[in-house]
This record gives sequence, structure tokens and C-alpha cells, in this order.
Amino acid sequence: MSGSRPFPRKTAVAVAAVGVIGIISARRASLRNEAFAEHPKPCGGPGRGGPGGRGPGGRMGFSTLRLESSQQVNDNTKRLRFQLPDSTSNAGLGLTSFILTFHKPKDAWFPVIRPYTPINNFDEPGYIELLVKKYPNGRASSYLHSLKPGDTLNVRTPMSSFKWKPNEFENVNLIAGGAGITPMFQLMQGILNNPEDRSNIKLIFGVNTDKDLVLKKELDAFEQRFPDRLKVVYTVSDPAEGSPYTKGRVTKELLERELEGAKDSKTTKVFLCGPPAMEASVFGSKGWVSNQKGLLEELGYTPDQVHKF
Ligand SMILES: Cc1cc2nc3c(=O)[nH]c(=O)nc-3n(C[C@H](O)[C@H](O)[C@H](O)COP(=O)(O)OP(=O)(O)OC[C@H]3O[C@@H](n4cnc5c(N)ncnc54)[C@H](O)[C@@H]3O)c2cc1C
Repeated sequence: MSGSRPFPRKTAVAVAAVGVIGIISARRASLRNEAFAEHPKPCGGPGRGGPGGRGPGGRMGFSTLRLESSQQVNDNTKRLRFQLPDSTSNAGLGLTSFILTFHKPKDAWFPVIRPYTPINNFDEPGYIELLVKKYPNGRASSYLHSLKPGDTLNVRTPMSSFKWKPNEFENVNLIAGGAGITPMFQLMQGILNNPEDRSNIKLIFGVNTDKDLVLKKELDAFEQRFPDRLKVVYTVSDPAEGSPYTKGRVTKELLERELEGAKDSKTTKVFLCGPPAMEASVFGSKGWVSNQKGLLEELGYTPDQVHKF
């Protein structure tokens, strides 16, 4: 996940940036609370620190959060609710912000660091909630899924990849694949909960199966509250029999039909987050080994209209 940039993929740079941040941060943290370093996985890469440089409890930097509850959402996803160190402060997060989690496996030389996106309302004091999809052999996701209420997690907070300005864009198009829904949900929630932000939102949410439609209940509630400003389109590549959702992946035809706003307008913005294959298809990938044009580029969207998390 990274800032607005040309279609050529710069994942390596993003990963290196996060790695460097992680290593520097980890060295500092190791003096205080045994937090550590390694490269996080991409869904792009992070930018600079979050708004005001504030983190849980109002301070930027490292924190240890206590898990209050862990709820199984479907067969591979959990919703983890953590207590902030200060129960009276909110997390101090801004739109498009994420935290870095740290853990050091017993048999590893280096710690595992990964970015995750809080999905609860920023104004809620005392808590951060993560929605974490577990990957087979996924080091961070398996660790997070193994946590029990009362266990603690070392985090660095917050970081941000895009500076959101209310009303900068008339039409905000969010394209999410699988667990890539979390940054989109955070952004959508923040826009709609801000009475001064009038941006219209179209969310295109692609998943493998019906049960992967996490946060559906919350998305439905937002759609009902904001029928004129939010529209969600679901597409399922392997739907159940009788499934009400569109069958298929995020295709050029789907994007052409559903994306809102003039293609060449500065008031139209597209945000994208999904698994690497989906991002490569929608955004393109240009690098040493591949040179693939993205669907958005084919449809006439300019690089600066697209932000890939
Ligand atoms: C800014 C940002 C915010 C993020 N927010 C969230 C979030 O809120 N919730 C969440 O669940 N994840 C989120 N991610 C992804 C998360 O950081 C990890 O990349 C993910 O949990 C996998 O890490 P792991 O250590 O478990 O897997 P790894 O040990 O790194 O990989 C294990 C296996 O899983 C596969 N794998 C890893 N990631 C993916 C993927 N995205 N799609 C398909 N296969 C994959 C790998 O190819 C490998 O085979 C975010 C990523 C970024 C960049």
C-alpha cells in the first residue's frame, strides 16, 4: 500500500522504506520494550507519520496493547479488539492510517513486522480494532490469530499513506480485494462520519466466496444511512448457489460500468487495495520481471488519480 504514484510498480522501494523504518524504530524500541525489526509484506508501502504524529493514548511511537477480545468472523478472519494504554484517549489516528505490529518468533533471528489497519471509529476512546485474515503459514497473521484475551501485542503507531482532505474529491472510488477491505472501510467510515465531508463514495468489493464478505453488516448499515452518497458493489469469483452477488472478478467491464466521476477530472479519485495479483491486474505492474498495463490505465485513468495502499 503506498502513495499516489505512476503505474510502474515500486513495491521494492516501499518495502525497503518500511523495512528501514522498522529497523530504526525497532532499534529505538529494543532499548525500551523489546520490539524489533524485519520487512512487512506489501499491499504497497507506507508514507510518513500520521496526522499530528499521535498514536494510542495520544503519543507517537511504540505501545503495548492488551487484547480484550478475539472474535472469529469467518473461517480465516478474526476481529481483534485491543485496549489502548490510556482508556480515556482515542487512538489519535487519521484517515488512511495503519499501525505496525511486532513479534519475535522464538526460532527467528529477526522480528516480524506487519502493517494492519484499525477499523473502529477513531473517536472511540480506549480501543483499537483490527480485522486480520490468516494466511497459510502467515507469520504475523498466525501469531495475531493465536493471541488470547489478556495477551499483549507490541505496536508502532500511527503511520499514514495518503493525506486525506475533506471535499478534495467529489467522487471517491474504492476498489478492495479480500482483506484489502480494511483501509477502504476506515476511509469510508471516516468520510461518512465527518459531517463536513460531502464526498460521494462507490465501493467495489471483490472476494473469492460469499463468506469472505467481511464487514458486510457494517457496510449495509452505512449504505442505509447514506443512500445518496454510498453505493457498494459486491463481486464474488466463486459464489454459492443462489448467491445474490455478481459472479466474477474485478474486470475491466465491471470497472467501466461502476466507477463514478469523470475519468479525466481532478475531482475523481480511485483507491485500491487487494492481493498482489488483483492489484497487478487493476493497477498494472512494471518492473524488472513484468510489464503489465493495468485496467485503470486502459480505461483512461491517470496515475495521479489512483492511490494504491
Ligand atoms: C498498509 C497495510 C495495511 C494492511 N492492513 C491489513 C489489515 O487490516 N488486515 C489484514 O488482514 N491484512 C492487512 N495487511 C496485510 C498484512 O500486513 C500482512 O501482509 C498479511 O497479514 C500477511 O502477513 P503474514 O506475515 O501473515 O504472511 P507472510 O508470512 O508474509 O506470508 C505467508 C503466505 O501468505 C501469502 N500472503 C501474504 N499476504 C498475502 C496477501 N495479501 N494476499 C494473498 N496472499 C498473501 C504469502 O504469499 C505467503 O505464501 C495490510 C498491509 C498493508 C501494507
